Formats: sequence, C-alpha cells, structure tokens
Amino acid sequence: MFKNYIAGEWIDGVAANCNVNPSDTNDIVGEYARADARQTTMAVDAAFEAQWVWRKLTAEDRADAMDRIGSELLVRREELGRLLSREEGKTLAEGIGEVVRAGRVFKFFAGEALRLGGEKLPGIRQGVEVDVVREPEGVVGIITPWNFPIAIPAWKIAPALAYGNAVVFKPADLVPGSAWALSEIIARAGNLPAGVFNLVMGPGSQVGDTIVKSPKVRAVSFTGSTGTGRRIGIECMTRGAKVQLEMGGKNPLVILDDADIDVAVSVALSGSFFSSGQRCTASSRLIVQAGIHDDFVAAMIERLSRLKVGNALHSDTEMGPVASRDQLDQDIAYIESARADGCVLAFGGEVLQRETPGYYLSPALFTETRNHMKINREEVFGPVATVIKVGDYEQALATANDTEFGLSSGICTTSLKYASDFRRSSSAGMVMVNLPTAGVDYHAPFGGRKGSSYGAREQGAYAREFYTSVKTSYTLA
Ligand code: NAP
Repeated sequence: MFKNYIAGEWIDGVAANCNVNPSDTNDIVGEYARADARQTTMAVDAAFEAQWVWRKLTAEDRADAMDRIGSELLVRREELGRLLSREEGKTLAEGIGEVVRAGRVFKFFAGEALRLGGEKLPGIRQGVEVDVVREPEGVVGIITPWNFPIAIPAWKIAPALAYGNAVVFKPADLVPGSAWALSEIIARAGNLPAGVFNLVMGPGSQVGDTIVKSPKVRAVSFTGSTGTGRRIGIECMTRGAKVQLEMGGKNPLVILDDADIDVAVSVALSGSFFSSGQRCTASSRLIVQAGIHDDFVAAMIERLSRLKVGNALHSDTEMGPVASRDQLDQDIAYIESARADGCVLAFGGEVLQRETPGYYLSPALFTETRNHMKINREEVFGPVATVIKVGDYEQALATANDTEFGLSSGICTTSLKYASDFRRSSSAGMVMVNLPTAGVDYHAPFGGRKGSSYGAREQGAYAREFYTSVKTSYTLA
C-alpha cells in the first residue's frame, strides 16, 4: 500500500484505492491510501506550523532542494515515464516526455528561488524610503487532474516551495501513482523540514473539499473541469483565500486555404489526438476554409487510418486508450449526440478490441458540423475532433472566438498578414501559428481567458504572482 505523507511521516489511509491500467484492466498498478477529512486537516495543520521554518531558510537552501528533486526526476525519466503511461494511458514517449518536463520545471524554479527580487521606489516624502518585496502566501493547497499526473503537480508544487510556501497536495484519485512517486522524491531528495510538503490522496469531495474550506490554507491552485473549478472559486472567494483556476477548453485550430497541407495535417493530428485528445489545450474544433476543406479532410482520414491505437506501453503505439471507463462512456455519449445532430462521422469513433482489455477508442473526426452544435460548445476531453467549414479568414476568426472558453488557439497559414492578425485578435490566452494548440514551454506563462482560467498565470516567472504576496514598507531613515 502506498501511503500518504503527512507532517514528515508516511501514514496509512482510512481506505484503499486501486489504480488500474487503462491499457490492460487486469493489471493493477498499485493500491494507494485514501485519506479522510480528519487526516487532511492534520496535513493542513502540519503545513501551517512548518511554513515558518521553511520561509526562514535561505533562498539557496530552497534552490538546492528544487534542484535535487529535478535531478532525480530527470535521471529516473524512463522508469517514471513507464509508470505514468501505465496508469494514465498516454504513450511511453509522451509519459517519458512528461517526466522530463516535470524535472525541468523543478530545475527552472531552483533558479527562480534565487531571482525573487523586490523594488525600491523613491519616496514622495523627505527621508522616507519605499520598499516592495514578495513574501510567501503561507499554506498553499494544490488540487490536480488526472491527464498530466506528474507535470501539472510539478508546475504547481515547484513554484509554491521555491517561493517559500508550505504545500498540501491532493492529486486526482484516478492516477495517484505518478503523484506518489513525485511526492516520495520531494520527501526524500528534497529533504524538506517535516510538514513543508504533504501528500493527501483521496476523493475530491472529501480531501479536496477540506483543503478548499480550511481557513489555514491561504491559496488554492486548481486544475480540472470547469464545474469543479467554479465551485472551488466560490468557496475560496467566500472566505477570502487566493485562488487560481485552470479549467476546460474548446480550442480552435484555423486552417486557411494558403496553409501548407502537410503542416496542417500534422498540426491537427498532434493537437487533436495525441494523448488521446485528453488535453485541456487539445484542438477540438478544426475551422477549415472552403478551398482546402476537401483535401484537408481526405488527408486527415488517410493519416488517421494509419494511426496505431493500442497499449500505451508498446513502442509502436501512437495513441493509447482513454483513461477510464467513465471517460470512454463520456466520449461515446458525445459521439452519439453529434451524430444525432446531423454531423457526419468521417472517421473512427469506434470502441476497439486489443489483445488486453482496455478503454480503446479509434480517433473520431466529424465533418458537416456547425459551431452552435453541442459537440462544438462543450469539452469532450477525448480523441474527438470536428471540422467546421468557413468561407474566409474573417468568418474563421469569428468562429474561433465564438466560444465560452479561451485557453489556446491556433492557425495554419503561410500568410504573415493573417498570422499576425490572428495573434492579435484571438480571444485565447495562448496562440499558436503553424503549431499544435497543445504543447507549451515550461518557462513561459501558461493560462487562458474567459471560462478557461481564473486568476494569475501559471509557469515561468509569472508563477510568482500567485505564490507570493506583495508587501510595501515605508521607512523614515
Ligand atoms: P475534475 O473532475 O474537476 O477534478 C480535478 C481535481 O479536483 C481532482 O483532483 C478531483 O478529485 C478534485 N475535486 C473534485 N471535486 C472536488 C471538490 N468538491 N473540491 C475539491 N476538489 C475536488 O477534473 P478531471 O476530470 O480530473 O480533469 C479533466 C479536466 O481538467 C478537463 O476539463 C480539462 O480541460 C481540465 N484541465 C485543464 C487544464 C488547464 O491548464 N486549463 C489542464 C489539464 C486539465 P478526484 O480525485 O475525486 O477526481
């Protein structure tokens, strides 16, 4: 049994959670402890006490700890990548890539710990000096989804610790394995004072809810669905806690007549279907200009027919299963609703059998869709993409922006004029030109607009906005 980590001790839960491999449901990845509200409160109390010890250590102490954690993640990339792919279902290459990203994130924030500068302003009163500094928030609650089980925890935990906060971390119940392995590295290689970092696995309705409602938790960073995020946001605002929400997407990829078709197909394929489409930044709406539409659809179908869907751990697999039975059912329900709305299923959308029992679904491509249809309004979170045919660039832009979400958007074009205008006019927080909507750098700000995100940006130096609080002091020398 893999235990929770509370106040510097590995502690049994009140129940056990069975982690199942979605590529082979006969394969049990491990049994993981589930905490309850009482144990979660113990973790919050431990973090509350430990924050004072941690913030008094030097920035170099914190930088060294982040560096050690990052180094171990990078050295163990193969082993941890395999664990990630086994429990979540993304391909081995994607799993290893995600672990590398997590390692790089810790390395980046090792440096950032030393770069947390302040400001000195000229006073407007004679002899008065004005200093602006950033201090840790205190105890930060971190709640993460199942689709990036090591990278998302890393890009929240690393800045939280680097900037001097204590952490209570609740990973997604569906995939606790990578989160547990990361926590074990933080606990051992990080060598942090007891209570600075706590892992509490268990259901969101108990563990997550207790974190969100705890008065000792000053800030909550959440990534997950829009519904849960909004509820957490209301709770935090009601009690005056800082909150950062990264939620769903319905990301458009515009393909103009002048696009290089090979680039467009490869960008759409990767953006829509890699990681089984289970990315908040996935290109789920392909907005295609009429002149290239038929060639693009034909080229996509040809490429999709060669896409190898199979066991995530097999080296030739290009797309693994979806993560769970619930996710598979949700994907199928959306596929059925799109068909009922009159969309044409041009490819895929079928449950597949492989040599091991798993949640395999062939990548689904719909044509003849309209932007107002349910399939184009709601996040599916699976290997399902739609094609929306448009007449010109202006219609493409208006369609791309006509969504309640605003995480990522993309355009495939060889026109500098349209590329530049799209970068300016897109209502998303991240814009890609001739690149997939999914796939971002760890040193650059990450986040969206409208219904996709709320609060400060994540990642890069921008992360300091959420994990620190500004203090202004005046001194009469
Ligand atoms: P979810 O169901 O909202 O769960 C996210 C996390 O919140 C899980 O750890 C969950 O616990 C927890 N939770 C559930 N109810 C809670 C409550 N009442 N109080 C506190 N915590 C609670 O989302 P998901 O299905 O795991 O992830 C998929 C979603 O994440 C998609 O919508 C996707 O777009 C979004 N996402 C967004 C980004 C981004 O950066 N914008 C990145 C990745 C994913 P359990 O363990 O019980 O599930």
